[in-house]
Amino acid sequence: MFTDHRTARTRWAAAAVTPLAVLLLAAAPEVARADTAEEGQGPSERLAAALEETPVYVDPSYASALPEDLVQRVENSINDSGVPLRVVAVPMIEGGDWNGDSSLMVSAVHDRSGADEAHYLVLDGRSLSGHDFETGDDRTIRAFYGNEAASMELGRDAPTAERLERAVEIALSDDPEGIYDTAREQQESDPFDWRYSLGPGSYTLFAVLPWVLAALALLGLGFGFYRWRRPRPVPVLAQHAAFDNANRARRAELARRAGEEVVELGERLSQAAPTSDDGAAEALHRALDAHAAARRVYDRLPDTGALEEIAGVLVLLDMAEDHLDRATRPANRQRSAPLRSHCYANPLHGTVTRMTKWREFGGRNDIRVPLCAPCAKAVRDRQRPTVLSARYRGSEVPYYEVPAEESVWAATGYGALREDLVERVLRGDRSGRTR
Ligand SMILES: [Zn+2]
Repeated sequence: MFTDHRTARTRWAAAAVTPLAVLLLAAAPEVARADTAEEGQGPSERLAAALEETPVYVDPSYASALPEDLVQRVENSINDSGVPLRVVAVPMIEGGDWNGDSSLMVSAVHDRSGADEAHYLVLDGRSLSGHDFETGDDRTIRAFYGNEAASMELGRDAPTAERLERAVEIALSDDPEGIYDTAREQQESDPFDWRYSLGPGSYTLFAVLPWVLAALALLGLGFGFYRWRRPRPVPVLAQHAAFDNANRARRAELARRAGEEVVELGERLSQAAPTSDDGAAEALHRALDAHAAARRVYDRLPDTGALEEIAGVLVLLDMAEDHLDRATRPANRQRSAPLRSHCYANPLHGTVTRMTKWREFGGRNDIRVPLCAPCAKAVRDRQRPTVLSARYRGSEVPYYEVPAEESVWAATGYGALREDLVERVLRGDRSGRTR
């Protein structure tokens, strides 16, 4: 049976999500009973069992309320729709069950549910995320579209209950992808949306800037005014600006997280007990190699910039994680553990990707690479996706335009073009830091 696992975010992409207000969730009483029903089960079994009873699971350890009437409404609409959507609100703690990773949690629970197709919206205290397991004809990544579209429509800072309810509504609709596309187009058609990402001070600045410019123009700087007013492709530029600003703001956070996860995964690897067959030993070996490569890149990070290197650390950690997952599964389940593919245009977009044909600007050849949904759509619309840039000889270029001899990331597309990324890093191939 072929099961396609797409998860709406990776652990490290979560670092980019604005932290949500602390969640106050009510324990649904019937769920609490289900949770304690059977002694001796692991947390994944208990959660899978609870989800058999009801499609919405709210962990009792959350002190207070997702309003009970909201939980009831969501349950009713899921039951009425017949869509295998599950809503899970559980605390995710580093080092706790599922090691604080909602993707791991969902994979484990889905494995134990015995179902083929299911869609999960997970509220984990930091963020809402969507995860989809699809089979057969319905290959709609409902939970992913629901979560993303709700976030775009309402904003990442909207109350969690509100976002969750809207995400459910979209996920259950007839055309989640259409709603997602519309939300995305609307977001892009507001060329000044990116100013919000700069903080309140900058927002004020951008609110008054046109007036300042107009005043300057009236004072006789007509030329400057003309230049300011000159038509230009605002939406595309604004989108890239938003991305660059976001990147700069994210740099410190991503670097910190990369460092923590290098240590944390190292500890888990040192304690890992592979199942006792050859496949598992091989998988553990690969996990250790990928982790060593991540550490090597991390140890050489400069103090500033080099986002492409940080992205490399995170990609290598994901590779290590995937191999570790395989190593610790029973032999007959190893193949069901997916090896995730990152977005080729920018691996920081996460691993919800599809193989997509892409001809870069000015290029003559099509390549087939994994792209996230927004990048794939940009390519379809003949626009350049928001690519990860790297500094090369004094200017910012798409990371893949750095000559392959000088960048292991360009040479391998972070593993999307070639499978020997880990080997190349370990043998010391040059990274893209030519400044
Ligand atoms: Zn992408």
